[in-house]
Amino acid sequence: TTSRTEHIIEQTNQYGANNYHPLPVVIAKAEGAWVYDPEGNKYMDMLSAYSAVNQGHRHPKIIAALKEQADKVTLTSRAFHNDQLAPFYEKVAKLTKKEMVLPMNTGAEAVETAVKAARRWAYDVKGVAENQAEIIACEGNFHGRTMTAVSLSSEAEYQRGFGPFLPGIKLIPYGDLEALKAAITPNTAAFLLEPIQGEAGIVMPTEGFLKAAQQLCKEQNVLLIADEIQTGLARTGKMFACDWEGVTPDMYILGKALGGGVFPISCVAANRDVLGVFNPGSHGSTFGGNPLACAVSIAALEVLEEEKLADRSMELGAYFMEKLKEINNPMIKEVRGRGLFIGVELDRAARPYCEQLKAEGLLCKETHETTIRFAPPLIISEEDLNWAIEKIQKVLA
Ligand code: PLP
Repeated sequence: TTSRTEHIIEQTNQYGANNYHPLPVVIAKAEGAWVYDPEGNKYMDMLSAYSAVNQGHRHPKIIAALKEQADKVTLTSRAFHNDQLAPFYEKVAKLTKKEMVLPMNTGAEAVETAVKAARRWAYDVKGVAENQAEIIACEGNFHGRTMTAVSLSSEAEYQRGFGPFLPGIKLIPYGDLEALKAAITPNTAAFLLEPIQGEAGIVMPTEGFLKAAQQLCKEQNVLLIADEIQTGLARTGKMFACDWEGVTPDMYILGKALGGGVFPISCVAANRDVLGVFNPGSHGSTFGGNPLACAVSIAALEVLEEEKLADRSMELGAYFMEKLKEINNPMIKEVRGRGLFIGVELDRAARPYCEQLKAEGLLCKETHETTIRFAPPLIISEEDLNWAIEKIQKVLA
């Protein structure tokens, strides 16, 4: 007889497009830092849906907001106002210290929005000649899977078979200030970067790079856009990873944990001189800013603040990192990261170790072949973290 798990995986392979390579585990229920398969086996979630579940699975406050709003109104489209979008605007504006906010649904859509805003800003405000605007991004970036996002990519596999790509894009090595200087022209609209590259394998910028890039962008009248979709909202031990260098980008791109792992919502936030370039008809989304997502997001942001999840990530992350660094095995090339956003780079394929960790009851995912990413929900208890550390020591030692 086939188990429920086996059946679900067979059904997936039969009918689903093959665009992912999941670990062979089916999740049927979740709470906090733990998930359960249909047979009732329990696993610790050390991926947090790529940091979308910073607040923990089914946080009671966020689920309550979802249920309450579901009983009122869920979708109006932007043809009308709804009573949740305005308070969401204010919440995000205050959190980011920006004047304006534009809501979308997914991370990639928010990246699209940022690129459109930067291009229009280049024409309308900076005075770049029509169709000449350039965006500078970084090698190894991950900004999503839309045509704009894959046009920005330096990964052959993200691009293969999808051309032609968006023109007006230049790439520089991540963290290379001289290359950034050389890439900027009078047509440069924006420099777009992840303050820590998540999908690239928790790759940190060289120290001082964010600050220096901000200064350079300011001097050259180039917008600094921080894609904080994965690194933002308390994940790295600060509200935004840019805070590590005291950097305020001209535009933030947020997603993932903005919806508390409960409902998709993303946004960009910037001042009026930038986001003010949009006028009615220039951009939008049917579901963007819907009241269900906004109500969930307000609760999700309140949880980050009320439970001081940035501080928690900082403290538990420092402890976790120290324990990981103590593991004495020459196959471990580097342990790096900030807060509870940690990469362990091996000198070999990481996948078999993720599979062994799964057998021990701990779910994580390799990124870029050789790096294991550990990013548990930020609400994880010390006891649960210690349990995980023991398992990791056992598998990696
Ligand atoms: N930008 C960054 C930095 C990301 O990590 C991701 C997702 O992993 C995205 C953009 C894309 O977000 P989404 O998958 O919601 O489109």
